[in-house]
Formats: sequence, structure tokens, C-alpha cells
Amino acid sequence: MHAHGRDLIRPTIIAGNWKHNPDRSNGESLLRDVMGGVEERRSRMVGDPDSVEVLIFPPLPWLGWLSASGDTAQDSLPISFGAQCVAEVSMGAFTGEVGAQLVKDFGAQWCLVGHSERRTLFGVDDESCARRVRQALDHKLKPVLCIGETLAQRESGDTRSVVGEQLERGLSLCVEGEQPVIAYEPVWAIGTGVTATVEQVAEVHGFLRDRLCELRGSGAEATPILYGGSVKADNAADLLGLSDVDGALIGGASLEASSFLGILDAGIACRGGREPKLHE
Ligand code: PEP
Repeated sequence: MHAHGRDLIRPTIIAGNWKHNPDRSNGESLLRDVMGGVEERRSRMVGDPDSVEVLIFPPLPWLGWLSASGDTAQDSLPISFGAQCVAEVSMGAFTGEVGAQLVKDFGAQWCLVGHSERRTLFGVDDESCARRVRQALDHKLKPVLCIGETLAQRESGDTRSVVGEQLERGLSLCVEGEQPVIAYEPVWAIGTGVTATVEQVAEVHGFLRDRLCELRGSGAEATPILYGGSVKADNAADLLGLSDVDGALIGGASLEASSFLGILDAGIACRGGREPKLHE
């Protein structure tokens, strides 16, 4: 395995996936609390506050709401927003779909692709992921390609082959220089309260980094690889302290401002620990 130059070239990304939660009134206060907490931390951060990015993937109506309230003048916000899914097709007669162009028009900068719930509950396969990544990139949205093995696949020793294939197929329509963010989310750790151990996470992230470099060339060193799966404020520091873990994708714990901000604190602290220059 080669030396990884993570510290200076990759931002830390702390991303909340709200899934199909919460209702409107709770969402408004959650957003307000998270926004305030992020703002306050950014003002205290020593060094470049943009070295730690905070993303929220709310249900789609929130993007419209933020846009209508003028709040998606994104440069003025401490957080960027994204869609949890984008269509694999452009605009047209596709009832129920929402595509990358529309999402971008309403102020989103990011989108998730191939979250395990989309794969298992809604039949999104690797080829569909590749088309969604393509749509995102064509419309200047930044995709986060989610990959991960099931428990059965891990137990039969297939983790590397499964995630390696998901990675390769999901990126198959990208051209040179295009580099989606990757989220490694073992299916058995999502929403279960069971977090992968630091050894398991380090092993898979190292493998993914090497595989990315093989597939995409040396530019892959600059690609953030996030971990997701029952990340909480009390386990975040261990996970985010790993050299190939560039952030977290957080489901359950992103629905409570204090938990989410606790994870952000761990991200900021880990970043600081690795980049002493930021503190000079
Ligand atoms: C997720 O939804 O991507 C996720 C990781 O969920 P949780 O943090 O609840 O496991």
C-alpha cells in the first residue's frame, strides 16, 4: 500500500442524510440549530474553515423551501445542500422523478447516488448508479457514490470484490478528471447501531483508495472517501482519525443537532491534529 497524502489535499466532509425525516416543524428547528452550530464552530476554527465541509441531504421539499426563502444563495450559508437521489434521466415524461438539473436549479450542490436503501428498496443497480452519477456531473452537481457490502457478503469474504465492483461500475461513465466523492457504508452498519470496527474501516478504505488510483489515476488521491454506518458523536473521533477516512455520512445521528454537531467537532479536532500548520 502506498503513502496517502490525505491531509493537505482532501477536505473533511461531515454529511447528514435525513432520509425521509423529519416533519416540517421539526425540520425547521433542526436546520436552524445545525446552521447556528456550524456557523459558531466555523467562526472559532483556526485555519481554513473550508477544510471541513458540512452537507445536509434533506428530503427534496426542503430544497424548494430554502430556495424560496432566498437561503440557497449558497455562498452565504455555512452548509451545502444535496438531494438524496437524482433521476437517471433528463427532464421529460417521468412521473415522480426529480432530476439533477431541477435539483441544481433549486440550489443544491450535491447528491447521493446509490444509497443502500435506494439499492435494496428501490432496485437501483450499479448501471443505474453510473447513469445517475453522469446526470449529476452533467448538471454540475457533486455526486457522492455510496457503496457497501451486506453482512452475508462480508461473512463469505466477498467485501473487497463487492465494493470494488460497485466502485468500478458506478464510475464507469465518468471521464478523466471527474471524481465523485465515495461513501463506504457497510449495509449491516446502516441504521443498526452496529459500527464497523476501526480495523475493518481502515482496511476497506485503504483498499478503495488503492482501487481508485488504479481506476482513475493519481488524481484519486484527492478524492474524499467517507465512512457511513451508525456514526455517533462518541465513535466519530476513532473513525475520523483514520488516515483514509475523509469524513462521515450520517443518518440517524444527523436528526439531532447536538449529535450531528458532536460529530462535526470530532471532524474538526481530527483535522486539527493532522494539520498542525492550521494552528500556527
Ligand atoms: C445512512 O443513512 O447513510 C447512514 C449511515 O445511516 P446511520 O448513520 O443511521 O447508520
